[in-house]
Amino acid sequence: MTALHLADGTDFDLVCDGCGLVVEHLGANLHSWDLAWSLFRRHGWIGDRSAGGPHGCPRCTAQAAATGNH
Ligand SMILES: [Zn+2]
Repeated sequence: MTALHLADGTDFDLVCDGCGLVVEHLGANLHSWDLAWSLFRRHGWIGDRSAGGPHGCPRCTAQAAATGNH
């Protein structure tokens, strides 16, 4: 999911719904959710394309894959 800092959505965090990992202040650097999410998907995050989530960080994704193999 995302957590908005400002009502107009110009700054926001990406929060892992699995472990609570927070990547802060994405809006300040990446300016839009669509741009931020396309970047994070390339870095191993999975989840819904919408800002509402759920979203999973690479660590949670790896754990899910590992437990799925047993
Ligand atoms: Zn996580």
